[in-house]
Amino acid sequence: MNDAPVRKIIHVDMDAFYASVEQRDNPELRGLPVAVGGGHRGVVAAASYEARKFGVRSAMPSVTAKRRCPDLIFVKPRFDVYRSVSRQIRDIFADYTDLIEPLSLDEAYLDVSEDRHQLGSARAIAEQIRARIKAETNLTASAGVSYCKFIAKLASDQNKPDGLCVIPPHRGAEFVATLPVKRFHGVGPVTAAKMERLGINTGRTSPPGR
Ligand SMILES: [Mg+2]
Repeated sequence: MNDAPVRKIIHVDMDAFYASVEQRDNPELRGLPVAVGGGHRGVVAAASYEARKFGVRSAMPSVTAKRRCPDLIFVKPRFDVYRSVSRQIRDIFADYTDLIEPLSLDEAYLDVSEDRHQLGSARAIAEQIRARIKAETNLTASAGVSYCKFIAKLASDQNKPDGLCVIPPHRGAEFVATLPVKRFHGVGPVTAAKMERLGINTGRTSPPGR
């Protein structure tokens, strides 16, 4: 094998980001199905968890969303507010590492291989970051911790919302083997369908029993 040191990567992802910011700032929206975006011919930019229960998803046409959830409340996006929260969370990240790779306003990879504050583990760093995000923004984030970006991103999705999932190197292959290919970063619906036609349904490296 090789002697390259194992990296410690955290993928931090805010939970239903735009929708959660709107529910935070407008208490009358809390507990209700909310979609940010919309407009007459628009699409949903983000859906609250209450809306997701009805099958409302981001990038879905507003008309479809409203059909799935007749009580859906559409809220205009406030990108200036989202950008300012995004700066707040990046300031928190910067306290733990200089190696930050943002993917969007609400998610980023952090390389915490160097344990700057001597917290003892990447799990402890991730928990502290999540706690600070909650304390400083009053919003929740989920985090995935692993030895590469690919698995860290899958892991952050595992226990959402307000969750943490740690996948150590020896569990990487087994974890990926359980997941449908459509969960993988970069595999959209079209690629997933193509892979499924080829008999590739999960991240298992060879078909069961072979
Ligand atoms: Mg998010």
